[in-house]
Amino acid sequence: MEQAVQQNVILRLAVPVPLRRLFDYLPPEGLDPQTLIPGQRLWVPFAGRKLVAVLVDVVQKSSFAHLKPALELIDQTALFSRVSLGFLSWIADYYQAPIGEVYAAALPAALRKGKPADHWAEQWLQLTTEGKGLPESALARAPKQQALLQLLLSEGKQSRTHLKALGHTSTIVRALQERGLVNWSSGPTVPPPLPVAEPVPAPQLSEEQQKVLDSVDCGHYSASLLEGTTGSGKTEVYLQLMERVLAEGRQALLLVPEIGLTPQTLRRIASRFPKRSIAALHSGLAEGERAQSWLAAVAGQADIVIGTRSVIMTPMPRLGIVIVDEEHDASFKQQDGVRYSARDLAVVVARNANVPVLLGSATPSLETLHNALNGRYQHLRMRQRAGDARPPQIHVVPTLREPLEEGFSPQVLRHIGETLARGEQVLVFINRRGFAPALTCDDCGWLADCPHCSSKLTMHRRLRQLRCHHCDYRCSLVDSCPQCHSRSISALGGGTERSEELLARRFAEYPVIRVDRDTTTSKLALDRLLAPARDGEPCLLLGTQMLAKGHHLPRVTLVVVQDADGGLFSADFRAPERTGQLLEQVAGRAGRGSLSGRVLVQSRFPEHPLLQMLLEKGYGSFARQLLRDRAVAQLPPTNAMALVRAECEEPSWAEEFLHNARMFMQSLAPPSPQLQYLGPVPALLERKSGRFRFYIQVTAQNRAQLQPLLARLCVWAEGNKNRRLRWAIDMDAQELS
Ligand code: ADP
Ligand code: ZN
Ligand code: ZN
Repeated sequence: MEQAVQQNVILRLAVPVPLRRLFDYLPPEGLDPQTLIPGQRLWVPFAGRKLVAVLVDVVQKSSFAHLKPALELIDQTALFSRVSLGFLSWIADYYQAPIGEVYAAALPAALRKGKPADHWAEQWLQLTTEGKGLPESALARAPKQQALLQLLLSEGKQSRTHLKALGHTSTIVRALQERGLVNWSSGPTVPPPLPVAEPVPAPQLSEEQQKVLDSVDCGHYSASLLEGTTGSGKTEVYLQLMERVLAEGRQALLLVPEIGLTPQTLRRIASRFPKRSIAALHSGLAEGERAQSWLAAVAGQADIVIGTRSVIMTPMPRLGIVIVDEEHDASFKQQDGVRYSARDLAVVVARNANVPVLLGSATPSLETLHNALNGRYQHLRMRQRAGDARPPQIHVVPTLREPLEEGFSPQVLRHIGETLARGEQVLVFINRRGFAPALTCDDCGWLADCPHCSSKLTMHRRLRQLRCHHCDYRCSLVDSCPQCHSRSISALGGGTERSEELLARRFAEYPVIRVDRDTTTSKLALDRLLAPARDGEPCLLLGTQMLAKGHHLPRVTLVVVQDADGGLFSADFRAPERTGQLLEQVAGRAGRGSLSGRVLVQSRFPEHPLLQMLLEKGYGSFARQLLRDRAVAQLPPTNAMALVRAECEEPSWAEEFLHNARMFMQSLAPPSPQLQYLGPVPALLERKSGRFRFYIQVTAQNRAQLQPLLARLCVWAEGNKNRRLRWAIDMDAQELS
């Protein structure tokens, strides 16, 4: 009898392969099936390889006849709770992604490779019941033992590593142990402490901030958009909300954009919560550190978990609130593999855990704004700047038919000079990297193209290189035209390097700090680079996107936007939204301290209605106008949209595949006013890393129409045997590139 029951134990596993299903296995030979809990990892044999899979379910029947046993159980306890298993399966369904890849994406790399979780376990020293009952003054005659006792009484259990660092030797510990006052236990490590400056007490909240704080009830699920001007004190609101849930013994999860996880942000949080255990999860960590922080979050050991995009898949047992900072930021959408939106998932996570989610931004995405305006989210607003900072004045400087000097109008250069002379700081924003975007021959019109992409190579003069910013192809700079051998080669347009040269020459008495991905490969480097600016000396900051966000530089009083036009004329329907966000964010860098700020925006089309609306009425009105336009055009967020993407070295194969995909979908659901197909069309960047890229755009009035159709399409597409063709579903696609 016993035997028969055991044979009926079937493991349903998420195996990291690009197929949209779970796989059935028998338990590892000789293992007591009682020890199996969903959420554990196992080694399994798969197509001649050995892979790390996650146990999703234990069932009694399989529709497959010859099941193989799994090889080995890796974890003694589950890494994923029931709730998070359900959540990950939901992600696979919603994004039409292979479920095994979703589970793999949720694990930090070291665990994905099968490293045992207890590799990072720590020994913890804690008080016994007897120890807890002792008064602090006990052991007065053994001062070292008393010091340790006091530490444990006031701060709770301590890790062996930490005790050693504090100088509590094992002899002292043993003495307490012999008295039955303390004992050791094993548990996950806590992340290494963050650099803490002086603890900073919370300021008195403004009336607006207090109102927002009062509107978020931490007892149950609610979703809120916090639309607050840059510098209105959103971060302060986040900190106080976190404080509230921490006081209730729960964990706080804070998502930040890729550029936002700076040492400055971490310092601010660490100095507010010096006693809390904080796990920061980001790509800058070594594999081991990342696994350690992840495990601390999963075990409930970390009180505050901060991270970029992928942190949203981290199961947290005591979750009390989810906060997404700069929720409009494009980096929250994963652009390959499992193409999830961390911002959208934040709402799902909060709903599953029945806790509030707060989406904060000065420039909310149209998706979130739409949900706030139609009442699905609570709409909270903060219009005033915190402290005594005032909103900046914005002016357009027309540049058509102006005698520009390396892209700057004389008027703008004069303002820069005057600001510096007053001892204040200037930020010049240029939306391009490199010396110039392209290299051209003045005689025959030759342009340096990337051999692998449909884009121009960017010239980097300091490195004497041409580089492709899409595939990272590099070659050295040429002095003569490869086509006509003329030596009149020149750079087209402006880039940060070229502007740096001009500004350094014109304003030689002041430091010019250039910030872009070429000068700042790490967050730490950026922090160091900005140090002189934080000191408050007059200087010129020059940079790309990286400068637009997050940095609090109170002495910047003039912001110059070199060219506002690019985004207004792009083929991507989201480009105006992004341009508006960027301009508003950059402008928000001006006048954040007690000095008032001024923003000068150069444009060849100062009369452009969108630009006018943005500058006169601000992002809020601009975004609401864009929403009306999107509704008329039946685009997101009014309608749901997914892209079916395909790429291949042979363009006709990708196109043909998509053509057949469209025929297949249309046979199931013919086009109608509610369901529309577009394409196959080439992606905006038609060729990337040697592959030609196409997509079909499918828009529907709601997701319920889209989901089953795409699910059927995936089954169809998995039958594709052409190994050189890659395809993907991009649900809620953010980029047409
Ligand atoms: P945001 O996140 O909206 O850009 P921050 O929270 O960073 O705004 O606040 C901007 C500046 O104002 C910071 O220097 C912050 O310390 C300060 N600040 C925020 N709230 C208050 C307050 N209630 N009183 C005084 N200063 C504040
Ligand atoms: Zn030429
Ligand atoms: Zn390229």
